[in-house]
Amino acid sequence: MDLFEHQARQLFADHGIFVPRAEVAQSAKEARAAAERLGGRVVVKAQVKTGGRGKAGGVKLAADPAATEITARRMLGMDIKGHTVRAVMVAQPVAIEAEFYVSYVLDRAAGRFLAIASAEGGMEIEEVAAARPEAVARIPIAPAEGVTQEKAAEIAAAAGLPADTADTLVKLWRVLIHEDALLVEVNPLVRTDDGAIVALDGKVTLDDNARFRQARWGAQAETYDHELEATAAAKGLNYVKLDGEIGIIGNGAGLVMSTLDVVAGCGARPANFLDIGGGASAEVMADGLAVIISDPSVRSVFVNVFGGITACDAVADGIVQALESVELTKPLVVRLDGNNAARGRAILDGRAHPLVQQATTMDDAARRAADLADAR
Ligand code: GDP
Ligand code: MN
Repeated sequence: MDLFEHQARQLFADHGIFVPRAEVAQSAKEARAAAERLGGRVVVKAQVKTGGRGKAGGVKLAADPAATEITARRMLGMDIKGHTVRAVMVAQPVAIEAEFYVSYVLDRAAGRFLAIASAEGGMEIEEVAAARPEAVARIPIAPAEGVTQEKAAEIAAAAGLPADTADTLVKLWRVLIHEDALLVEVNPLVRTDDGAIVALDGKVTLDDNARFRQARWGAQAETYDHELEATAAAKGLNYVKLDGEIGIIGNGAGLVMSTLDVVAGCGARPANFLDIGGGASAEVMADGLAVIISDPSVRSVFVNVFGGITACDAVADGIVQALESVELTKPLVVRLDGNNAARGRAILDGRAHPLVQQATTMDDAARRAADLADAR
C-alpha cells in the first residue's frame, strides 16, 4: 500500500526526521485556517499518490491565508495523472540551500535492500539516472546489518551528500524496518539555509504482508489508490484500476494478465484488472460488471473466460443473470473457451443482447473490444 505524502511525513516525524510543520485540509476554508495557524506564508501541496506534482501544478507557494484559500480551491478536485485531489497539505515553507535524493528500496532479485542517493535532488531521479548515471549512487544493504552510522556515512560519501545527512539516513532506515516498508523515498531531502536537514517530500510503500502486525495501519488500511478500488474491495472483488479504456473481466490471475497483454498488443489500453476467480458466480459477474461499467473511462468491456472446473455454460448463465441486474451501457465482447464452450456460446446467443457480441479467440475479442472503444 502506498501512503499519501502527509502519512509518510508523519512516519518520518515519528522516527525523529525533521519535516516542515504542516496540516491536512479537505476544503479551501480549512486550508486558509491552517495557513493562519502556520504563520501566513505556506506551501500548498496536492495529496495524490503519484509523483511529479510540482510540474503538474500540485505544489504552490501562497503568500498569505487569503492566497492559500484561492490556491487550495483551485487545487482541490484537480486531476493529476488520473488521481483526483481530495486533500491538500498546507506546510510551512522552507528556505532551501541544497536538494538531495535518498531512497531505500527492496531489491528482490538480489535478496537485499538498495540505498539510492544523489546530490541532485528535487528532479525526477529517473531523469538524473538516465542523463548522468554517475550522479546516482546505488549501495547494497545487507538486511541483517541495516544502515548503521558507518553505513550511512558510506552512502553519503558515495552520493556526494554532506556528512551531516548521515543521521537522517539512519533514521530513514528505521522507518523502513519498524514500519515494514518496501520503499521509503525522500525527494528532496534538503539542507535549509540555517543548516537543518529536512525531508520536504515523502513516498512510502508499506508491505501489505506485514499488515497483521502493524496495528496503526487500521485507520490507513481503508485508503485505496482509486475510489473504484474501494467499491470493488467492499464487494470482495480482486480489482485494480488501470488508466486505459477497455474494461477487463477474466477468470484466473494468469489469464487476466495475458488479457491485459493482448489488449495492449492490439494498440488499446486496459482500464482495469479484474479476476473473478474460479467460481465466477452470477453475483460476482454482476458485481464486476457494475464496477467496470461505472468507470467513466471504460468504452468497451472484454470478458475473457476459460472454462475449467467452472464450465463455460455456468459462466454464460452468470453473464445472462448479471444482465438482469446490471444495465449494460457499453458494448461487451465475450470470449468463452474450454469446458462446455459451445453450450456457453449458445446460451449467450439465445439471450441476444444487442450490446453483447462473441468472439472465439482472445486476439479477435481484443481487436473487437478495441474497435468498439475506438481505441486504435
Ligand atoms: P513532487 O513534485 O510531487 O515531487 O513534490 P515535492 O514535494 O517534491 O515538491 C516539488 C518541488 O517544490 C521541490 O523539489 C522543491 O523544489 C519545491 N518545494 C516544495 N516545498 C518547498 C518549500 O517549502 N520551499 C521551497 N523553496 N521549495 C519547495
Ligand atoms: Mn518530490
